[in-house]
Amino acid sequence: MAADADNPIVYLNGEFLPLDQARIPVMDRGFLFGDGVYEVIPVYDRHPFRIADHLRRLGQSLNGIRLPNPLPEADWLSLIETLINRSPWPDLGVYIHITRGPGPRDHAFPNRIRPTVFMMPLALPAPAPALIEHGVSAITAPDTRWQRCDLKTTSLLANVLLRQLSVDAGCAETILLREGWLTEGSASSVFLVRDGILLTPPESHQMLPGITYEVVLELARAENHPLEIRPLPEAEMRSADEIWITSSTKEILAVTRLDNQIIGSGRPGPVYTRMLAAYQTYKRRVMRGAAS
Ligand code: PMP
Repeated sequence: MAADADNPIVYLNGEFLPLDQARIPVMDRGFLFGDGVYEVIPVYDRHPFRIADHLRRLGQSLNGIRLPNPLPEADWLSLIETLINRSPWPDLGVYIHITRGPGPRDHAFPNRIRPTVFMMPLALPAPAPALIEHGVSAITAPDTRWQRCDLKTTSLLANVLLRQLSVDAGCAETILLREGWLTEGSASSVFLVRDGILLTPPESHQMLPGITYEVVLELARAENHPLEIRPLPEAEMRSADEIWITSSTKEILAVTRLDNQIIGSGRPGPVYTRMLAAYQTYKRRVMRGAAS
């Protein structure tokens, strides 16, 4: 079947089929309660980026919501490969969505669990050169999410509302503060640079263990760049020389305006430029099949 960008081939519960033919029952607990988890694996030139890390995080999210992993790793790898090969785009995000499946409308788990497993390709355009060159604007907001932000759950209402605040303000991201401490963005991890030192909060239940966050830390360590992983108060962010947001889809973007205040020189800073170059080199190695 020819890959069609408007109607790509997706996977649903054992079958590959065009997106417009995929159906789930309205009693699916993903629909009723947001009772599920998800992942997005970036793929460049049909080579998946950090697939092992994404599948590990998927396993952690499933474990965190007490849903047994419905498939062994080998099956995930082969389904992902098929989806990539049938994708209309060589660069894509493999979106994986697993819910606790259909059941009576009762908060308690059903007696018999039949998880729903859905996968689809998402177009993955590279970040626009203007955003890389000039940086982006962000706003801050109190982190109104629950206490298990380390799990990548499909219950995203708080993230949706928080992200919309930045859309309404014409900004690229909402950076979240929990009682005056930086957690992360509504859909990204956050780094600061102060006096040449790269700073980021430690992994905790308050933030998602970002795969890009992990890659940035690895690249910083490989270059022996001064690095501090510690809780970061709001004041350190507001007076930072550089702020970055990172995610699988945004890669690394400099925040040059926060709540309408200029950050640093108002341009992406020198540490950003070095890190972006290291990230792009790593990405090119993945595209050549020389790294994963
Ligand atoms: N935090 C949140 C809340 C996110 O939604 C994302 C995007 N998945 C991230 C951080 C960044 O994670 P990753 O680098 O794995 O895309």
